[in-house]
Amino acid sequence: MSAKKANLSGELKKYFGFSTFKGQQEQIIENLLNGKDIFVLMPTGGGKSLCYQLPALISEGTAIVVSPLIALMKNQVDAVNGLSSDDGVAHVLNSSLNKTQTKQVFDDIKSGKTKLLYVAPESLIKEDYLDFLKDVKISFFAIDEAHCISEWGHDFRPEYRNLKSIIDKIADVPVIALTATATPKVQDDIQKTLGMTNALVFKESFNRPNLYYEVQPKVNVDKEIVKFISQNKGKSGIVYCLSRRKVEEFAQLLQVNGVNALPYHAGLDQKIRVANQDKFLMEEVDVIVATIAFGMGIDKPDVRFVIHYDFPKSLESYYQETGRAGRDGGEGHCLAFYDPKDIEKLEKFLAQKPVSEREIGLQLLNEVVGYAETSMSRRQYILYYFGENFDPINGDGAKMCDNSSNPPKLKDATDDLRKVLELINDTGEKFKAKDLISVIAGKETAVTKSYKLEQTSYFGFGKEEKDNHWKTILRQATVQNFLQKDIETYGVLKIAEKGRLVLDGKLEHSFMIAEDREFDLTQTKAE
Ligand code: ADP
Repeated sequence: MSAKKANLSGELKKYFGFSTFKGQQEQIIENLLNGKDIFVLMPTGGGKSLCYQLPALISEGTAIVVSPLIALMKNQVDAVNGLSSDDGVAHVLNSSLNKTQTKQVFDDIKSGKTKLLYVAPESLIKEDYLDFLKDVKISFFAIDEAHCISEWGHDFRPEYRNLKSIIDKIADVPVIALTATATPKVQDDIQKTLGMTNALVFKESFNRPNLYYEVQPKVNVDKEIVKFISQNKGKSGIVYCLSRRKVEEFAQLLQVNGVNALPYHAGLDQKIRVANQDKFLMEEVDVIVATIAFGMGIDKPDVRFVIHYDFPKSLESYYQETGRAGRDGGEGHCLAFYDPKDIEKLEKFLAQKPVSEREIGLQLLNEVVGYAETSMSRRQYILYYFGENFDPINGDGAKMCDNSSNPPKLKDATDDLRKVLELINDTGEKFKAKDLISVIAGKETAVTKSYKLEQTSYFGFGKEEKDNHWKTILRQATVQNFLQKDIETYGVLKIAEKGRLVLDGKLEHSFMIAEDREFDLTQTKAE
């Protein structure tokens, strides 16, 4: 083993020029070379590409890299080709190639020259590609951006759904799946869909201790952002807006206020878009006002703030977008403006979608609302969402959010927690937060009626308190591991081990909470 290790380090140096592996790269590569299926969950910038590029370069045959981003594939291929002294160790295979080019790629694969073949999943289904790939030596499959397989991910691509059967048709070789966004639900989905529930899972922390998280009510938002940017003059930053119109308007408003800003969205002429992006990268402008079209593949290390004029549709998106701040480990301020009315707009938009998409969309929005309204450590909330427990007192970056730097007063809510646990237990652990709150508040709904919940002794037991209090209890009990969201149905709340101990009277655990924030902005004078 040690000889092999020394060898791998030598190959790392030879191809990439690095003297040490980053994080768990070495174990990942060793296990892949030993024929294991691997699942890698690592935040952006963690060094995922090397986990398949290096083993591909030193293995016999061709590794097939499935990637959804045709635009970025070319860059990857160029980068890999720059690593080796041999020509053409990496190729793209897609419909943009003409006959001669395709033949060249096929010849290079046959001769064993091609070590990495980048394909989009939709190309992989093409019969002539399939027939060809069946007959050549494949070293392994790498599924990049593996969250695209899951409807619960933030970038679902139906073409990814059939990957397993295509892989099986081509070769019986190891599979390495990689992603930078995976909630436990998405992780479960990826592993099941790819038939790799026995894969070795390598997960790195998603904590970004240098990022400061803050949420402000969306009141006088234009003025607030202009003020923030003026106080951070000369620093590089991104302002995300939902609509193209807003991007244009707000970029202008910033310019009028003396901020060196430019817009970016998919509706702009390609030349202008590229020019604006380049100016941002070259530091000719400080601030880019953009839709979510901006950012993919952008690696600017010194982005000092990411402001969300509008809240995004999911916490994954929020994490990805804010993740563009402070890549160099320096300051990174993530400020989001929240108005429940914006969430209602997003809900209305979802109403036009097919049922399953709508249900998922609403659940994801629910988490966004939870994040916005929480009075807990925001870092703890986000990391819980990614399946990580974070210590809000001593964890790395514990003080780096508005709630933690100015902590609200806590009160003991253990009695209320116990009542909620009893309710969940006695009603068979089959309801979502919304339905539990209807029972607690004594509000009849279709669900309470169909399960005859009005007839239980729990109906209306908490109506003296505001609904917000019970929402707080449910959210915070989940993040503090008294409750857990069922992985299959997602929204359904079940009792976790720690919650069972409370129910059984075995854990006199005190449950301290601060009420989550209420955002009724209708009373506040808007701009
Ligand atoms: P990801 O795909 O996880 O976002 P990348 O593969 O793009 O990450 O790697 C992020 C950066 O880290 C790249 O600039 C890459 O060259 C660098 N990197 C990767 N592995 C190492 C290593 N072992 N030592 C030093 N730098 C590394």
